[in-house]
Amino acid sequence: MPITKRWYLGTSNYDPVSRARPDDDIENERHSVRVLVTGGAGFIGSHLVEQLIKREDQVVVLDDLSTGSVENLRHAQSICDFEVVEGSVTDELLVDSLVQECDAILHMAAAVGVKLVMDRPLESFQTNVRGTEVVVEAADRHSVKVLVASTSEVYGKNRSGVFSEDSDFVYGPTSVTRWTYALSKATDEVIAYYYFLEKGLSTVIFRLFNTVGPRQSGDFGMVLPRFVRQALSGAPLTVHGNGTQKRCFCHVEDAVRGILSLLDEPRAIGGTFNIGSTEEISIIDAAKRVIEETGSSSEIQLIDYLDVYGAGFEDIPRRVPDISKISNLTGWKPTREMDYIIQSVIESVSSELVL
Ligand code: UDP
Repeated sequence: MPITKRWYLGTSNYDPVSRARPDDDIENERHSVRVLVTGGAGFIGSHLVEQLIKREDQVVVLDDLSTGSVENLRHAQSICDFEVVEGSVTDELLVDSLVQECDAILHMAAAVGVKLVMDRPLESFQTNVRGTEVVVEAADRHSVKVLVASTSEVYGKNRSGVFSEDSDFVYGPTSVTRWTYALSKATDEVIAYYYFLEKGLSTVIFRLFNTVGPRQSGDFGMVLPRFVRQALSGAPLTVHGNGTQKRCFCHVEDAVRGILSLLDEPRAIGGTFNIGSTEEISIIDAAKRVIEETGSSSEIQLIDYLDVYGAGFEDIPRRVPDISKISNLTGWKPTREMDYIIQSVIESVSSELVL
């Protein structure tokens, strides 16, 4: 039985922390708001659902359970009941019926992970582009605000290392499979942005940089859960290339707080925002830290990119988000450091191995 929850819809004096509107007669200002989370059974989606429920929003999840699972929602479901719809974001009639009943959409559903996209490029591209088109078209028909998840991959192989939202996108040819993911998410951004610009739809785009934490699967290439699983089972940690490539890992709790800060901020509409940590670490150092923290006897094995992804693959040597735009607007900043992040992934992977 879904439980109807109530919240206070964003206005300029809405306080997302206390959720109170001190100047208002609260009883008269209450609105029942329902948030559709596409991809809500996925890694980041399920954390979003949990936080939305905790702050007493009403949630509906749409997920095709391809890379997500209902198991990811077990914790959220222990807090309160909510509707989970198994289906595709490319199903126009289904999406339309769900959007019609919602006040906001968090569009998280996508084919994600470098490995998945490398394995199934056409299917991934079509899922991402068609799915976003269907969701945004429905949002436009029913005038529903939509936040579209994008990725740091959109910056492509721009060598600047530090990316602000207006940095250039630099890609290789379409025949190099890696860029198809970036191209699909950049296309999603085009759809969202121009629906805002030309049709006045309330859209917000956020670009996530290497989000990690509990429930992230290592099966689709994400490095930290892979390293932790390898370390806990005594297998070598597979470092691609020479391991000098650097990333900034952002804990999912921080990322979710950032996304919700944009949902709550009316001035975010029409904008694009980076969400990520600015603490840099090389992949080889991350592997060493995982070995240290798990007390593993595993060794590090350097593997040539050619052997992992085949010819033509180009990695990104450095990727740091400039987060001043979101910080200035909503005050958001990540708080979780690498020690906490690695421990959190170790705990989560250990509990999966025990199950
Ligand atoms: N990587 C690695 N070993 C693995 C998986 C990934 O060395 O088993 C590297 C990958 O080549 C990249 C970095 O770790 O340089 C981050 O990879 P991930 O897929 O997590 O995210 P990306 O930043 O590439 O989107």
